[in-house]
This record gives sequence, C-alpha cells and structure tokens, in this order.
Amino acid sequence: MAGNRTVGILALQGDVREHEHVLHGLGVSTVRVRRPEEIATIDALVIPGGESTVIDKLSVAFDLREPIRDAIREGLPVLGTCAGLIMLADRVVDAAAGQQSFGGLDAVVRRNAFGRQVDSFEAELQAPAIYGDPVWAAFIRGPVIESVGPRATVLAQLEDGRIVGVEQGALIGLSFHPEISGEPRFHERLLRTL
Ligand code: GLN
Repeated sequence: MAGNRTVGILALQGDVREHEHVLHGLGVSTVRVRRPEEIATIDALVIPGGESTVIDKLSVAFDLREPIRDAIREGLPVLGTCAGLIMLADRVVDAAAGQQSFGGLDAVVRRNAFGRQVDSFEAELQAPAIYGDPVWAAFIRGPVIESVGPRATVLAQLEDGRIVGVEQGALIGLSFHPEISGEPRFHERLLRTL
C-alpha cells in the first residue's frame, strides 16, 4: 500500500498538474521536484508528458540529470508518460541533436512516431495486466516503443500490435497520457511497487 508515501513529479515542464490530480485522487501526497536534494525525499517519481527536448535541457540546467540517473539505477520507482517515456528509454530514435535521456528502461523509443498529420488520437489498448474496463488512451504527438529488450516487458499495445507501454521492475513507460483521460490504473501500478 502507498500509505503515507510521497510521489515526486518532475516539474521542469509538462503536464504536472494533471498527474497531481490523479495521484491526489488516489490519496497520495505529491511534491514538485525541481532541485537535486528533493530526490532523496521521494518514494517514487513521475516524469510528465510535455516536450522531452525541453525536459532534457532543463534537467541539466537544474542539475537534475545525474541525480535522477543515479536514483533510477538505485531502484527508484518511476512512471514516465509520453515525453516522460522518452526520458526513461535507454535509446531514443529521432532525438533532437544532442538530446539525451535519463535511461533505465531497456527499450528503443521513436519520438513523434505517429506523424504530423494525425497528431492526436484516442484508442482502446490491449493491456492484459490492467484489470477491469478496457484502457482508453490519449495520444498527443507520442512516441512509439520500437523494441523492448530482454530486461523489460510489454505492458500495452495498440490493436495493430504497436507497443505503447513497457515495464521493467519499478519502471513504467507509456506513449500515452493516462493523466489526461482520467485513467488511474497505471499510477496505481506505480504505487503498488512502494
Ligand atoms: N513529442 C514530444 C517529445 O518529443 C512528446 C509529446 C508529449 O509528451 N505529449 O517530447
């Protein structure tokens, strides 16, 4: 049980408030993470959707890149949605020049994989590990998970088989935005690991 655990939300850029809303709905306290010393005070981290190139640059400017990498390596549970998934992936295809991720997830992620024409859509997912009602997901210029290495497992797929959710121990990466569609079960899954 999450009990009185605190979940940090990386608050450099992106949809921080939407994640706070879901987590507060689950009865969990949150803290906005902007300083390296805050990493030591949290039991899990959410990396929101937004723009991964900006989150990357700001993580360097705020001296957070290395502390977050260390925390992931040491087993901090992390949920990354959309840009947050890009930040969690070990390899990013179609990254901007010089763009880096924190890494941790044994997966290859392609940025902006759903093209420019269809920037946003909703779809029902195949996600057998998520019990109950079907998962409806909102995609907003999201990445696709091109391949999943041996340390990670597929968590969610589109009907056509494209991978849009991946899990590795306490790390969860999603191409879509459960925080926008009012879908709490992936956040619950993060809390389950605490
Ligand atoms: N296209 C964005 C990126 O590359 C991700 C979009 C999103 O998070 N909604 O970071």
